[in-house]
Amino acid sequence: MALTARGVLLSELLSGLALTLRYMFKGTVTVNYPYEKGPLSSRFRGEHALRRYPNGEERCIACKLCEAICPALAITIEAEPRADGSRRTTRYDIDMTKCIYCGYCQEACPVDAIVEGPNFEFATETREELFYDKQKLLDNGDRWEAEIAKNLALDAPYR
Ligand code: SF4
Ligand code: SF4
Repeated sequence: MALTARGVLLSELLSGLALTLRYMFKGTVTVNYPYEKGPLSSRFRGEHALRRYPNGEERCIACKLCEAICPALAITIEAEPRADGSRRTTRYDIDMTKCIYCGYCQEACPVDAIVEGPNFEFATETREELFYDKQKLLDNGDRWEAEIAKNLALDAPYR
């Protein structure tokens, strides 16, 4: 095996060590997840949520536009009129295992009821936990309303 000058002088080893030494004194570029988190765009498309008006009434008017536009056929809605004549859903399911997070449902909704919120930490241990029903979606809306409203307001000038 022929020995080269670079091999004899260990120059590659020394340049590698020098590189390590240089980076030892630079600031870290990683975040200590889950205790630290990186910034999220106001347009981030995360876990779905159904929103309410400030008086607690559901925003969704059961128009089914989100169900019609969903390319993954992930949304299932059933509806009937209430006693006061208003139209509301009796069933609103999203199969999150089918969802491709395209955001079309949010874009189609005329009343900003179904939205993709900022939550990305909703991994589950079973498939069944990803079959969301209306109560789960409304709970998500209640939990994330402040962030969702802020993000929608930031995006409003561009819609
Ligand atoms: S984000 Fe897209 S795929 Fe997912 S439920 Fe909405 S429309 Fe369907
Ligand atoms: S979430 Fe919006 S688009 Fe979907 S049925 Fe309700 S009002 Fe219509």
